[in-house]
Amino acid sequence: MEEKVQACPQCGTEIRSDSRFVTWCAACDWNVDPARPEEQPGRLERLRRGLARRHGAKLLEDVTAAGGELRPHRDAASFVAYGIALVVHGVTVALLAGGVLLAVVGWGTALPVAGAFLLGLAWILRPRFGRLPDEAPVLRRAQAPDLFALIDEVAAVAGTRGVDAVVVTPEVNASVTTYGIRQRRLLHLGLGLWEVLSPQQRIALLGHELGHYANGDTRHGVIIANALRSLDTWRYLVAPVQDTSAVGTLLNMAYLLPRGLLIGVQMLLDRLTLRAAQRAEYLADALAAKAGSSEAAVGLMDRLLVADSVGSFLLREANARQVSRSGARERGQDAAHGLWDRLAAYVESIPQGEYERLRRVGVLRGHGVDSTHPPTHLRRACLLTAAAAPARVVTDEIRAKAIGTELAEAREKAARRVLRGSWFS
Ligand SMILES: [Zn+2]
Ligand SMILES: [Zn+2]
Repeated sequence: MEEKVQACPQCGTEIRSDSRFVTWCAACDWNVDPARPEEQPGRLERLRRGLARRHGAKLLEDVTAAGGELRPHRDAASFVAYGIALVVHGVTVALLAGGVLLAVVGWGTALPVAGAFLLGLAWILRPRFGRLPDEAPVLRRAQAPDLFALIDEVAAVAGTRGVDAVVVTPEVNASVTTYGIRQRRLLHLGLGLWEVLSPQQRIALLGHELGHYANGDTRHGVIIANALRSLDTWRYLVAPVQDTSAVGTLLNMAYLLPRGLLIGVQMLLDRLTLRAAQRAEYLADALAAKAGSSEAAVGLMDRLLVADSVGSFLLREANARQVSRSGARERGQDAAHGLWDRLAAYVESIPQGEYERLRRVGVLRGHGVDSTHPPTHLRRACLLTAAAAPARVVTDEIRAKAIGTELAEAREKAARRVLRGSWFS
C-alpha cells in the first residue's frame, strides 16, 4: 500500500489516502462517489424513486420500531401476489383437467385431439423445480459433517431445519434455494464472501440465509417465480407472428389485448412482491444477529459493502494468470492454492476510510428501486438500532479448522475456476 497525502481541493482539509482506493474528503464529501452515473432521470422516474425512498424509509422505521421482536408475516400485497400466482397456476391445472376430460368423454370422436392440445399446453406451462448444479462442487452431509452440524445448530436458533446440500461457488454472495419436487434445501456458499468473514460472521451469514427458510421466503419465492415463468410462456405463445398475410395481421391484432394483459400482470406481481422482498431481508438480518451476535451481523454488512472490491480483486488475479500463462503448470496450481488466503489478506487491508466512503455512497445513491435487497447501509443501521444481541451459536478454532478441511477440495476447485477466468464470462 502507498499512502498519499494531499489537501482537499474543495475545503483544504488534509486527506490521507490509500492509492489503491478512491481519494476523497471525509470533511466535505469531495469525490465521495466518482463512479456515480451522471444521468438526468425523467419526471416519472424521479417520482418512482421518490416513492421507493419513502417506502424504504417507512419500512426501516417499522422494522426498527419492532426491535428484535419481529414477527414474520406477509403483508396484504404479498397475499394479493400469492392470489394472482395461484390463479395463474389454476389456469394450468384447468388446461390439464380439460385435456383429460376431452380425451375421456370424447373417446371415439375427434375431441381427444383438442384434449391432446390442451395437455401439451399444460405440459409447457407446468411449474419447474430447481436442480442441483452440474459444474460446481456439491457437498452432502457425509462429506462435510462439521459444516452441516454448524448449519443445523444455526437452523435450530432460526427455528427451522438445516439443508440437504451445499454448493460451493466463487460468488461474493450466499443464497438459499430449493430443488426437486420435494423441495429439498440447497445453500449456495460463495467463497468470495465466506472466505473474507470471521468465524462468527460466518454464523451470522448462515443465520441470515436459514432465516429465509424459517420465514417461508423460499416457499413463497417458488410459487411466485413459477407463476412469472408461466406468464413468460404465455407471452411467448401470443408473441407477434412474422406473417404479413391477412390471417397473420388478424392474429397479431387478436394477440394485442392478451399480451398487454400479461405484461400488466407481470409488472403487478413484481411491484407487489418488491416491498415484501425487502422486508424479508431485514427479518433475515434479525436472525443473523440472533445466531451470530449483532456485532457479527454488522461486520457481515461491512464485508458486503466491499463486495465490488472483492470481485475486482478476483478479476485482477485471473487477468494476471492469463498474462503469465507461459509459466509452469505447478505455478498455476500454487496460485489456486493460495487464492482465498490472498483474498482474505487483501480484504483485511482495506482501510476504514473506504468502508466509510461506501456507506456514504449508499446514503447518496438512495434506495434502489428495482433491487430486491435494501441498501446495505440501511440494513447495517437497522442492526445497530436494535438492542445488541449476544451470539447464540459460537464456534472454536478446532471446529473452524475441521470445516476448513471439509471445504478444502471445493475451495481449490473454485479457485481454479476463478483463475481460468471461466467464472467471469
Ligand atoms: Zn474537503
Ligand atoms: Zn437475504
